[in-house]
Amino acid sequence: MADVVALNIEINIDIIKKINPSAIIILGGHHATFFAEEWLKRGADFIVLREGDLSFPVLIENILSNTNEFHINGILSANNLQCSDENLPYLKDLDILPMPDFNLVNYKFYNICRYNSGFTASLETSRGCVYDCSFCTIPIYWGKTQRFKSAERVCEEIDILYKIGIRQIAIVDDNFFAFPHRDYRIFEYVLSKYRDVIFGSFLRADYVIRNPEVIKIAARAGLKIVFIGYESDDIDAIERMGKRIEKNIVDKYAEIYQFLHNNDVYVYGFYLTGFPFQKKISLPSKKVADILLYSDWKPRKYTKLSKEFGVLDNFYWFRFLDERRIDPVKMLTFFFVTLDWRINNKFSRSHMINMLKGYADTIENWRFLSFIEFLKKISNVEKREELIRFIVDNNKKRIMKRLGL
Ligand code: SF4
Repeated sequence: MADVVALNIEINIDIIKKINPSAIIILGGHHATFFAEEWLKRGADFIVLREGDLSFPVLIENILSNTNEFHINGILSANNLQCSDENLPYLKDLDILPMPDFNLVNYKFYNICRYNSGFTASLETSRGCVYDCSFCTIPIYWGKTQRFKSAERVCEEIDILYKIGIRQIAIVDDNFFAFPHRDYRIFEYVLSKYRDVIFGSFLRADYVIRNPEVIKIAARAGLKIVFIGYESDDIDAIERMGKRIEKNIVDKYAEIYQFLHNNDVYVYGFYLTGFPFQKKISLPSKKVADILLYSDWKPRKYTKLSKEFGVLDNFYWFRFLDERRIDPVKMLTFFFVTLDWRINNKFSRSHMINMLKGYADTIENWRFLSFIEFLKKISNVEKREELIRFIVDNNKKRIMKRLGL
């Protein structure tokens, strides 16, 4: 999601620097790593490349001790522009990491959307992904590795969260269900100890077929929400996306959903559209999720598909604006699919409200244009870079003015 919020971050940098010009701004994560030099130009002082567990503490110590020694492996800065992320090692054993200080978070701001009571904490149990989907940046960022915390370590983190009052846990791993033996032990432990914790996580459709027993115990232990990337009903398209999944998986989508539903697990199903090789939006013929979410392919830097189709690196991503021409038929289809109560059951109300808020935001972003200008600008694909600069500058001016800066 980083390219969706890149403009926000950029505006935040400007605001912080205006309020406190001596503030030191450090960025890290996927987007900061992939666009490191661009972020330095936009006002960041340091970029923590890839995994910051070892480099970030050194940077903080050097800043605090005023050593001015910033040639740190894994930290890019104006003084250390040669630093590259390419050969940075990945931690082999995540269990050596210090226990996160969960008390630092004000949990009252966080809540898994479907449940109204209680607060939600994030839990990282592994990093990376063993798959290599052609639209996805995860294997690139994590060097096609997936490293796991042990079941014991994960259970210890759950215990700490429970003690501080957390009852909802969002597992933030890109590919959580990937190590059945470990996953089983984690949920077996939770089931033996707690009865009131809810979990949400990503889940690959094929894992359900292969490991129904793990899903059953996870559901009994509190797994209530899963996010499944079905991506498409067209197996040829799925293969182009490099999902590395069984050929007959599409025929099993409804069965997978039914199994999860019978185990009281709520399913968000994701479909991807907008690939150059896709001829039409594929709609499932049977119920495969409680909520279906369609998203347009966003060509991301370094991904196989972006390279294959020679698309530009998107530093920002704006609704209605990328290097492809706007397709009103597709937009309307998205709109009506989201509104369709036969496909999306009663919980789609909040999803629909969010979507409408998204459209309202877009209109707000483009407010400085007349409608005709808006149409003219979005249809002029060749002037995309100029147009993006125009939106960014205008939004910055508008927000600074609103804040009185
Ligand atoms: S889409 Fe999911 S399964 Fe595919 S590479 Fe990315 S994280 Fe892994």
